[in-house]
Amino acid sequence: MDEKRLDYFRKILLEELRRRTENVRTDQAAALEANDDGVKDSVDMSLQDVNREIAFRLGERESQMVADIDQALLRMDEGTYGQCARCGKPIDERRLEALPTARYDAACQAEIEANQGLDDIPTL
Ligand SMILES: [Zn+2]
Repeated sequence: MDEKRLDYFRKILLEELRRRTENVRTDQAAALEANDDGVKDSVDMSLQDVNREIAFRLGERESQMVADIDQALLRMDEGTYGQCARCGKPIDERRLEALPTARYDAACQAEIEANQGLDDIPTL
Protein backbone atom coordinates (compact mmCIF):
# COMPACT_ATOMS: atom_id res chain seq x y z
CA MET A 1 0.00 0.00 0.00
CA ASP A 2 1.43 3.39 -0.90
CA GLU A 3 1.90 6.27 1.55
CA LYS A 4 -1.13 8.17 0.33
CA ARG A 5 -3.51 5.28 0.92
CA LEU A 6 -1.88 4.55 4.25
CA ASP A 7 -2.37 8.16 5.30
CA TYR A 8 -5.96 7.99 4.21
CA PHE A 9 -6.67 4.95 6.39
CA ARG A 10 -4.65 6.35 9.27
CA LYS A 11 -6.90 9.44 9.30
CA ILE A 12 -10.00 7.26 9.34
CA LEU A 13 -8.64 5.22 12.23
CA LEU A 14 -7.60 8.26 14.24
CA GLU A 15 -10.97 9.87 13.69
CA GLU A 16 -12.70 6.68 14.75
CA LEU A 17 -10.49 6.44 17.83
CA ARG A 18 -11.25 10.05 18.75
CA ARG A 19 -14.97 9.43 18.36
CA ARG A 20 -14.86 6.31 20.53
CA THR A 21 -12.83 7.85 23.31
CA GLU A 22 -15.08 10.90 23.23
CA ASN A 23 -18.04 8.61 23.81
CA VAL A 24 -16.24 7.22 26.81
CA ARG A 25 -15.58 10.67 28.22
CA THR A 26 -19.18 11.76 27.64
CA ASP A 27 -20.41 8.67 29.41
CA GLN A 28 -18.04 9.37 32.22
CA ALA A 29 -19.26 12.94 32.59
CA ALA A 30 -22.88 11.82 32.47
CA ALA A 31 -22.27 9.23 35.15
CA LEU A 32 -20.59 11.78 37.38
CA GLU A 33 -23.41 14.25 36.83
CA ALA A 34 -26.02 11.66 37.63
CA ASN A 35 -24.07 10.94 40.77
CA ASP A 36 -24.17 14.60 41.77
CA ASP A 37 -27.81 15.53 41.22
CA GLY A 38 -28.40 16.56 44.81
CA VAL A 39 -30.38 13.47 45.62
CA LYS A 40 -28.42 11.36 48.01
CA ASP A 41 -28.78 7.76 47.12
CA SER A 42 -28.50 5.19 49.81
CA VAL A 43 -25.24 4.24 48.17
CA ASP A 44 -22.66 6.99 48.12
CA MET A 45 -20.62 6.17 45.06
CA SER A 46 -17.00 7.08 45.05
CA LEU A 47 -15.28 8.17 41.86
CA GLN A 48 -13.68 4.76 41.68
CA ASP A 49 -17.07 3.10 41.81
CA VAL A 50 -18.30 5.36 39.03
CA ASN A 51 -15.34 4.47 36.84
CA ARG A 52 -15.91 0.81 37.47
CA GLU A 53 -19.54 1.24 36.55
CA ILE A 54 -18.60 2.98 33.28
CA ALA A 55 -16.11 0.30 32.35
CA PHE A 56 -18.82 -2.25 33.04
CA ARG A 57 -21.44 -0.41 30.99
CA LEU A 58 -19.15 0.29 28.06
CA GLY A 59 -18.58 -3.38 28.02
CA GLU A 60 -16.28 -5.57 26.06
CA ARG A 61 -17.59 -4.45 22.71
CA GLU A 62 -16.57 -0.83 22.95
CA SER A 63 -13.22 -1.48 24.57
CA GLN A 64 -12.54 -4.19 22.00
CA MET A 65 -13.15 -1.66 19.22
CA VAL A 66 -10.73 0.79 20.75
CA ALA A 67 -8.17 -2.02 21.09
CA ASP A 68 -8.71 -3.00 17.43
CA ILE A 69 -8.05 0.56 16.30
CA ASP A 70 -4.92 0.73 18.46
CA GLN A 71 -3.67 -2.48 16.90
CA ALA A 72 -4.38 -1.27 13.37
CA LEU A 73 -2.36 1.89 14.06
CA LEU A 74 0.42 -0.26 15.46
CA ARG A 75 0.43 -2.34 12.27
CA MET A 76 0.79 0.88 10.29
CA ASP A 77 3.91 1.74 12.28
CA GLU A 78 5.24 -1.76 11.67
CA GLY A 79 4.43 -1.54 7.99
CA THR A 80 2.13 -4.55 8.02
CA TYR A 81 -1.15 -2.68 7.74
CA GLY A 82 -3.32 -3.92 4.90
CA GLN A 83 -1.73 -7.37 4.90
CA CYS A 84 -3.61 -10.42 6.02
CA ALA A 85 -2.20 -11.55 9.36
CA ARG A 86 -2.90 -15.15 8.40
CA CYS A 87 -1.76 -15.63 4.82
CA GLY A 88 0.19 -12.41 4.23
CA LYS A 89 -1.73 -11.42 1.10
CA PRO A 90 -2.84 -7.82 0.70
CA ILE A 91 -6.32 -7.15 2.04
CA ASP A 92 -8.72 -5.80 -0.58
CA GLU A 93 -8.95 -2.04 -0.15
CA ARG A 94 -12.71 -2.11 -0.47
CA ARG A 95 -12.69 -4.37 2.55
CA LEU A 96 -10.48 -1.91 4.43
CA GLU A 97 -12.84 0.89 3.45
CA ALA A 98 -15.67 -0.99 5.10
CA LEU A 99 -13.57 -2.19 8.02
CA PRO A 100 -10.35 -0.20 8.49
CA THR A 101 -9.33 -2.41 11.41
CA ALA A 102 -9.51 -5.58 9.31
CA ARG A 103 -6.71 -7.97 10.22
CA TYR A 104 -7.50 -10.68 7.69
CA ASP A 105 -8.53 -10.80 4.06
CA ALA A 106 -12.05 -11.96 3.28
CA ALA A 107 -11.04 -15.56 2.58
CA CYS A 108 -9.20 -15.99 5.87
CA GLN A 109 -11.87 -14.16 7.83
CA ALA A 110 -14.49 -16.53 6.41
CA GLU A 111 -12.40 -19.55 7.42
CA ILE A 112 -11.77 -18.20 10.89
CA GLU A 113 -15.45 -17.51 11.40
CA ALA A 114 -16.37 -20.95 10.12
CA ASN A 115 -13.98 -22.46 12.65
CA GLN A 116 -15.40 -20.37 15.45
CA GLY A 117 -18.93 -21.42 14.68
CA LEU A 118 -21.86 -19.11 15.07
CA ASP A 119 -20.52 -16.67 17.64
CA ASP A 120 -21.69 -13.08 17.49
CA ILE A 121 -18.98 -12.00 15.06
CA PRO A 122 -20.13 -9.42 12.53
CA THR A 123 -20.11 -10.89 9.04
CA LEU A 124 -18.75 -8.82 6.23
ZN1 LIG B 1 -5.50 -14.24 4.41
